[in-house]
Amino acid sequence: MKKKQFKTESKKLLDMMINSIYTHKEIFLRELISNASDALDKLYFRSLTDTDVALSRSDYRITLEADKEKRTLIVSDNGCGMSAEELENNLGTIAKSGSFDFKRENDQGEDVDVIGQFGVGFYSAFMVADKITVRSRVYGADAAYVWESEGADGYTLAETEKESFGTEIILNIKEDSDEEKYSDFLDEYRLRALVKKYSDYIRYPINMAVTVSKKKEDSEDEYESVTEVQTLNSMVPLWKRPQSEVSSEEYNSFYREKFFDYQPPCRVITQKSEGTATFTALLFVPSHAPFNYYTKDYEKGLELYSSGVMIMERCADLLPDYFGFVKGLVDSSDLSLNISREMLQHDRQLKIIAKAIEKKIKSELAKMMESDRETYEKFFDAFGIQLKYGLYSDYGMHKDVLQDLLLFKSSKEKKYVSLKEYTDAMAEDQKSIYYASGESIEKIEMLPQLESVKARGIEVLYLTDDVDEFALKMLGTYAEKEFKSITAESAELTDEEEKKRLDEANKASEEILSFMKDAIGSVSAVRFTSGLASHAVCLSSEGDLSVEMEKILSKMPGADGAAPKASVVLEINLNHPIREKLVNLYASDKDTLKNYAKILYSEARLISGIGIDNPGEFCELISNLMIK
Ligand code: ADP
Repeated sequence: MKKKQFKTESKKLLDMMINSIYTHKEIFLRELISNASDALDKLYFRSLTDTDVALSRSDYRITLEADKEKRTLIVSDNGCGMSAEELENNLGTIAKSGSFDFKRENDQGEDVDVIGQFGVGFYSAFMVADKITVRSRVYGADAAYVWESEGADGYTLAETEKESFGTEIILNIKEDSDEEKYSDFLDEYRLRALVKKYSDYIRYPINMAVTVSKKKEDSEDEYESVTEVQTLNSMVPLWKRPQSEVSSEEYNSFYREKFFDYQPPCRVITQKSEGTATFTALLFVPSHAPFNYYTKDYEKGLELYSSGVMIMERCADLLPDYFGFVKGLVDSSDLSLNISREMLQHDRQLKIIAKAIEKKIKSELAKMMESDRETYEKFFDAFGIQLKYGLYSDYGMHKDVLQDLLLFKSSKEKKYVSLKEYTDAMAEDQKSIYYASGESIEKIEMLPQLESVKARGIEVLYLTDDVDEFALKMLGTYAEKEFKSITAESAELTDEEEKKRLDEANKASEEILSFMKDAIGSVSAVRFTSGLASHAVCLSSEGDLSVEMEKILSKMPGADGAAPKASVVLEINLNHPIREKLVNLYASDKDTLKNYAKILYSEARLISGIGIDNPGEFCELISNLMIK
């Protein structure tokens, strides 16, 4: 028979499989069993609507047969089967398109074992077999077909006889080598252990004829070997088993295989409810954001099951956007198997379940923050920004859910603090929660205003994400304390006496300050401040919009200079020698004072991290000053 050629991509993959030095060859069994289970699912789904499929749920099964003499391992199922065309298309090409890297690097630059985590499907069987024969008959069809391949040089496809429908995969197990004892894959115990390890929650029985030693009838001490068919898997879905009986390895591998993650989740959440809604949920908080998480390609959602049968792969309505990173599934007996997507959206039961899940996720995250701070901080690094967006985008509607899950780095130890921790540690007479925003902690620490605030022992929250300040504005207050930027003009950091002295100084120099304001042009005022320690000047803002917020808004797509502007004030350190200099210049040399005003304003912008519009002019002013 003429051999057909594999597609190029498939051939490459096959070559790699055949010559694989991969140490976990055993995963091939998991792959074949999963395929069989999928084929059973397909037929089962069909039986729900197609009366021609006369099978009851208990008829479906997967069978393993090992023959040590013939060195064959057969994995068969009575599922949907494959037609000649399907055999050709499904097994002649790799289903997964694109080039396949077997080694990938994760965020930390470690090699990630892709074969182990994801599996590579049917072809993985070539790691242990030197010949594979697939015999298949589609349910309800008369003709059966056989596909056979000994590896990369091609495959044959022919008609055959097959008594029952479904698929039979016959593996000719490789001869043992120095490195690998392939015969193990023909061993009853090994096969049983592999099924337990990887495929225990497959919902159909995985049967194998095993030899057991039994007491002979009417004998006290004589035993005989008999063959009996045993079901190797427990079949109970993982989420139906009590949490205390499931090991964390089981949860981890379930998560990784199902949700294609190479890292274990940072928290497993189980929920069982009987009341207004009866459901079981098994949820996972990933330990890192998927590569497409912060793009519009990412789709949130949970798998939805009705009494153990999946009815929807990704039910978005079960998760609020701000918990969109949660993966997992919900199984409820309240939902009908044949419910349509449209109906589901309006389903009252589903809404109740979604509410309960939201509450549970919140309380689990709060618990995690409390009892496993290190993990929570890692979680927050990955998904905290999502929580903050959640707070902002719903106009603070969900602040009760979200505010206590937030963390901010603070000036105290540059460690994360929660709002509760911040307010608990506040001195009694501190009226507001202070924050400073900037591109990075380093930039924030350069803010001229910070020095004196810190000197007074006040803790300052460092806001480094674009959304931070907007989110706090949405919150408004926390524990009845207002949020206040240290660069806001009205920051009440001065005591009464100080304030009086300041007011007097401002009044006395009114003319000078107004002259400087006109020289600069783009500020709403120039004023003295007593809120600076060693720095000469700083920028502050009046009103709701801070300089930092203006910067973020102006960077938004479509802003094009139309973004709202912050009302900016140039503040001059009342206690700095520059004050006297300015006063003198006003009397003696107004032109120079004009330049000084411009330089000081540029300085203040630079140190606030917002840059200057005209660096050329600034440099010229400085150079001129030098040669004076
Ligand atoms: P994947 O399972 O990831 O799609 P595989 O290479 O394992 O990739 O399988 C390719 C395709 O072959 C499957 O998608 C399925 O359509 C078909 N297939 C594999 N095994 C069986 C089986 N036992 N019964 C029916 N179809 C199968």
